[in-house]
Amino acid sequence: ARFQIESLQDLELRQLLLVAALRRLEVGLMERREDLCAALESDLGKPEIEVFLAEYHFLLGEIRQVCRHLKRWLRPRKVGAPFYFQPSRNRILREPFGVALVIAPWNYPVQLALAPLIAAVAAGNTVVLKPSEMSPASAAFLNDLVGACFNPKHVAVVNGGVEVAEELLEQRFDFVFFTGSTEVGRVVARKAAGHLTPCVLELGGKCPCVVDRNVDVSIAARRILIGKLFNAGQTCFAPDFEAVHRDMRKKLVEALASLLEELPWEEEMARVVNKRHYQRLLGLVAGREIRKGEDDAERLHFAPRILPEAGWEDAAMREEIFGPILPVVEFADREELTDRLLERSSPLALYVFSRNDEFVDALMDRVPSGSVCINDVAKQSTNLDLPFGGVGASGYGRYRGRAGVESFTYERSVTKRYFLRDFFETLPPRGEKLEFLKKWMK
Ligand code: NAD
Repeated sequence: ARFQIESLQDLELRQLLLVAALRRLEVGLMERREDLCAALESDLGKPEIEVFLAEYHFLLGEIRQVCRHLKRWLRPRKVGAPFYFQPSRNRILREPFGVALVIAPWNYPVQLALAPLIAAVAAGNTVVLKPSEMSPASAAFLNDLVGACFNPKHVAVVNGGVEVAEELLEQRFDFVFFTGSTEVGRVVARKAAGHLTPCVLELGGKCPCVVDRNVDVSIAARRILIGKLFNAGQTCFAPDFEAVHRDMRKKLVEALASLLEELPWEEEMARVVNKRHYQRLLGLVAGREIRKGEDDAERLHFAPRILPEAGWEDAAMREEIFGPILPVVEFADREELTDRLLERSSPLALYVFSRNDEFVDALMDRVPSGSVCINDVAKQSTNLDLPFGGVGASGYGRYRGRAGVESFTYERSVTKRYFLRDFFETLPPRGEKLEFLKKWMK
């Protein structure tokens, strides 16, 4: 069922209503901050600071930015036309697709459900949201929040597992926004293609983090560990592994190890989502490891570890880690590094620590990725002014701020003409007209 908002022709009125709906969501989130923390504690043992930064404050920031700029972003754009179509008035409108389906994962279960929802609503769509069944407390939280903030014909939450997601995809939606694994992304794209429904796929992969010679390893190590251990490594754009110049390996490992040793990471780290993932992570650890604290299978607490002597062919280098394990592999020169990185599928993010711009440029030139962050990790993915998304196996389409609102709309080209004499009309017989046109159209 389509909601009345779609039939509201008056753009300004429609936008006012949409902004009002988003403001209700903002207030709803603020009122339920404690419930949000409790849900994320229950699903993932997330520390409150992580909930505050990556879910609560991030979402408020996005709502505020969208509400502030929506009118400008959706404003019809006037364009010109060739002289032989004059007089005419030409505009590009940004129209919502209609009914959007948002399928969310479990790792940032609220942020990754609501951020696309905010963009979809702002763009003027009605939305069906399917949260992940693997984060049930967050799914219940979303149900309550959305139920309180939106008319159910405008935004509806449908909870359930794979069967429910599959059944939803049998329906004809006008747009599908999927965040999750690459394999499921393929299934979603195939199903959406059955209805010729456009989609955005936000997928995963192994994001390399390259460390060149002559960098400040203590700063690099701090930034790498913060990015890696946030949400216990269960972040799609976390640095997956370290590829370090051979001359720097010892120094980097020492800096990482002493930082791991010194700070109480294990006390302030989220847990692994479930037993299956816990077992999967155990299977990725081989050879020498530097570990902080003890594993606790009962509590699903996986001790963070560095694999200081990892090789490019190890188990941990074959699949996306998605946990607090940091393999450190080495490279001898730029050629070896690019060859090794190109053997892997194109990631969401490429991280490079280097003082050498030429090295960074050459790497960026050879290795495709959805985004790049130089001398830090993750900062490019949490900036609302930078579009976020993958390339190749890490997905397609962009969102965050303006990019999200644009993704959930299509450009509709409109030409208006008037009942005036038309000098360039081409009614037959056209012989002489061709000569006339040739004079003008050189
Ligand atoms: P997943 O693909 O298993 O599940 C994601 C969602 O898809 C869930 O809601 C699930 O119910 C649904 N689903 C599962 N099977 C389905 C099917 N056959 N048809 C339709 N829907 C189906 O992913 P996950 O385990 O929840 O998340 C982890 C993965 O997501 C990692 O690979 C990670 O890198 C990726 N990820 C990517 C981003 C991004 O923004 N690019 C963000 C977070 C996570």
